[in-house]
Amino acid sequence: MWGMIATWRMALEGVEKGVHLLREQNSCGDALEAAIKEVEDFPYYKSVGYGGLPNEEMEVELDAAYMDGSTMDFGAVAAIRDFANPISVARALSKEKVNNMLVGEGAAKYAAVNGFERKNMLTERAKHYYKKRRKELSEAERPYDGHDTVGVVSLDTHQQMCAGTSTSGLFMKRRGRVGDSPICGSGCYVDSEIGGAAATGLGEDLMKGCISYEIVRKMKEGMTPQQACEAAVNKLDERLRKQRGAAGDLSVVAMNANGEWGCATNIETFSVVVCSEKQPLSVYRVSRDSDGNCKRELADQAWIDEYVAQRSKPLE
Ligand code: ASP
Repeated sequence: MWGMIATWRMALEGVEKGVHLLREQNSCGDALEAAIKEVEDFPYYKSVGYGGLPNEEMEVELDAAYMDGSTMDFGAVAAIRDFANPISVARALSKEKVNNMLVGEGAAKYAAVNGFERKNMLTERAKHYYKKRRKELSEAERPYDGHDTVGVVSLDTHQQMCAGTSTSGLFMKRRGRVGDSPICGSGCYVDSEIGGAAATGLGEDLMKGCISYEIVRKMKEGMTPQQACEAAVNKLDERLRKQRGAAGDLSVVAMNANGEWGCATNIETFSVVVCSEKQPLSVYRVSRDSDGNCKRELADQAWIDEYVAQRSKPLE
């Protein structure tokens, strides 16, 4: 069995590449890295890699993580600047004995020494969004919106699994701010004998529930990926509302070692991309009904095309 699931429609072309590698019996790690790099390299996605939206100082600081579900290797970078593919740096770090998670200048130094591609990640389009938003806002109301992390779980024909994330984090975040994406168990988690999960949404809230670990733990207890995703999102959402009066965006995907998959969200606009030996490459639009049940419907081609058209339309 092989399979791959990813957060957001933006992962479609990447997943297509990744599953091509999985079909040819390549490793889950190579497939995942290819999938995420595709999203990182695409200039019109404002929340991952090249073209990602900047922090409040107009710098693009990127977070990424990689976990191997067989060896438990884990590597991550946070607030790294000017490197093309943070996922590749995170994967390389996962193979180190220690120093597996590096931030800021330390992460950049490691990437430079190890020959990773340097790139100015701030595009003209991202500058335009930044300047426009800056004008619209007073100091007091910095928006923490405009986010979408690519999170992927990958299962290969050798029954190995891995998981990874890559993001520019929240638009207008503070310099040095780190979200859930590079945090083990929050942004992603995977165990090849059970399954894996990845998250997107408000990092400050996702990490309060160690949500990806929680989903894998629930699958270990016997839940299906769908049950585990819904239970984890609904429980964290409920607890945040009760204790803090509000819950940020929480959206997740999961796949188990049999290639069965699930997803859940507490927002109206989540989408996932999935493909496995049993499931053709598909995009689903995901939301939640008033009883807390996950609703998912197959996205049609018009919606899939519109997603990219919206993001690449000429700037006003
Ligand atoms: N979770 C990411 C963060 O908080 C953002 C996102 O997924 O959209 O950095």
